[in-house]
Amino acid sequence: MKGITSLLFSSALCVCFSQQVDVPKKYSSYIDEADLKKNLTVIASDEYLGRETGKQGQKMTAEFLSAYFKKLGCSFAPGMSGYEQYFDVIESTPGGTMSLNGLNLNFKTDFIYYSCKSKTSLENLPVYTNEQLTKAGKEPCYLIYMLKSLEVRKEVAALKKDLPKHVKGIILVSDQYTTLYEYMEHYVTTKSMYLADEKRKEEFPILFVNKSSLQGLNKKSNGFLSGTGKISKPTKPVFTLNGQLNTQEERLKSSNVLAYIEGSDPVLSKEVVVITAHYDHIGVDHGVVYNGADDDGTGTVALLELAEAFMEAKKNGEGPKRSILIMPVSGEEKGLLGSNYYSSHPVIPLANTVADLNIDMIGRNDIGHEKDTNYIYIIGSNMLSNDLHDVNEKANEKYTRVKLDYKFNSLSDPNQFYYRSDHYNFAKHSIPVIFYFSGVHEDYHQPTDDVEKIIFSKVEKIARLVFYTAWELSDNPKRIRLN
Ligand SMILES: [Zn+2]
Repeated sequence: MKGITSLLFSSALCVCFSQQVDVPKKYSSYIDEADLKKNLTVIASDEYLGRETGKQGQKMTAEFLSAYFKKLGCSFAPGMSGYEQYFDVIESTPGGTMSLNGLNLNFKTDFIYYSCKSKTSLENLPVYTNEQLTKAGKEPCYLIYMLKSLEVRKEVAALKKDLPKHVKGIILVSDQYTTLYEYMEHYVTTKSMYLADEKRKEEFPILFVNKSSLQGLNKKSNGFLSGTGKISKPTKPVFTLNGQLNTQEERLKSSNVLAYIEGSDPVLSKEVVVITAHYDHIGVDHGVVYNGADDDGTGTVALLELAEAFMEAKKNGEGPKRSILIMPVSGEEKGLLGSNYYSSHPVIPLANTVADLNIDMIGRNDIGHEKDTNYIYIIGSNMLSNDLHDVNEKANEKYTRVKLDYKFNSLSDPNQFYYRSDHYNFAKHSIPVIFYFSGVHEDYHQPTDDVEKIIFSKVEKIARLVFYTAWELSDNPKRIRLN
C-alpha cells in the first residue's frame, strides 16, 4: 500500500508541475517591441506638436491614449465617467511693470525677475538697504542691494540668510545687467504654469535692475546710488516700489489619463498599484517641434503595453489580486503638475495605494553607457520600503537580468532625480516608489529627441521589468511594508 500511494502521489505531483505555468511570464510577451515602435511613431510625430500641456498636442495625445485603453477594454477608474481626469492650469507669461519713486522701468531693457510665477502687485512698498532693515519698521518692504559680481546665486543666498519675514522681495541692482540678462534670458522670459487650484505659497520675487536705467534717480536715492554707500537718512526708504508682475495669465485645461484594471480578489482589489509616465513634452519652439520620443514617449508607450498585458491576464481570469491603475500624466515638464493634481485628488484613497512605479525615459543609453544597453537607473526603491526594493530586485533576477544601477539613488545626489519626476508626488505622501530611468543624453530636451534613436529592445525589457514588479506587488497577498 505504502508503495502504491507514494507512487500515486509522486505521479500526481508530476502532473501538477508540468501544468504549472509561470503566469506573469506568459503575459509579459504582450509587451513587445513592434507595438512600442508603432505607438511611439504616432505620438512622437510632428503631428502631435510636442505634446505641450494645455495645448492641442497634449489633447490629441490624451485622445489617442483614451482610445487605446478603450480598445483594450480597460475600465474607468472608480467614480469616473471617462478615462481623463481634467485639471486647470494657469499659464503665465513673464512681464509687467515696475517703478521706483515714480520712474517707470521697462521689462527686459531695464528689469527682469525670477522666483515669481503668478500675478503679483507691488503697491507703495518701501525699499530699504540691508543696513537699514534693523532700524526700519515691520511693515512689508523690499530689500535693495548692489550686486558686486556675477555670482548672483551666492550673493542672493547670503542676503536671504536670516532675512526678516516682512521683507517680501529683493531688488538687485547691477552695472553688468546686459551680461546677466544674456545668461538668464531664456529662464526669465519662458512662460510657466501652475495648477489653478493649488494653494500657492507666498512668492518671493527677485528683481534685477539695470543700474544705468536709474540714472535719473541719483539725487532721490537717499545716497544709495551715489557710490559712497552712505545713506543720508538711515530710516528713510531708499525708494518706493510700485508695479505689477505676470500681468498676462491664461487658464488652460489639461488631463491625466486613467486606465483601471480591477484586481481579482474581492478584498485586495480595493488596493491599487499605480504605474505612471508623463505623456506631455515641451511643445513647439520657434516653429520647431520637440517630439520627446524618449522623454517621455518611451514611458507613455510602455504604459500602453503594460495595460495590454494586464488586460489579457484579466480576460483569461488570471489577473493579479490587487487593482492596477495605469496613468499617463501631463504637466510634468511644467513642474510635475498632473501627478501633483492626482495626489491631491486621488480616485483610490492614497492609504490604499501600494506603490507607484514611474517610468521616465527608458529608450536611450546615457553618457557612460554608450555601448552598454543592458542597464537601468533605479531611483527611490528603498527610500520608503525595503520590501519594494527586494521585489524589484527579485523580479529582475528571475526574469529580465538588467544591470540595476543605483548611482542616482540618493537624496543628496546633485542631479536630485528623486524629486524630478512624477513618482515624487507619491513619495511625498509616503507611498513607496520606483523611478525607472536610463539617464540624460545629448538629445535631452532638444528637437532631436526622435523615434529613430530609440532602442526598442531596451524599452521592451524595462517595461517587462516594471510589469513583473507590478505583478508581484499586486498579486502577493502580503502588502509591501513601509520601513
Ligand atoms: Zn521626463
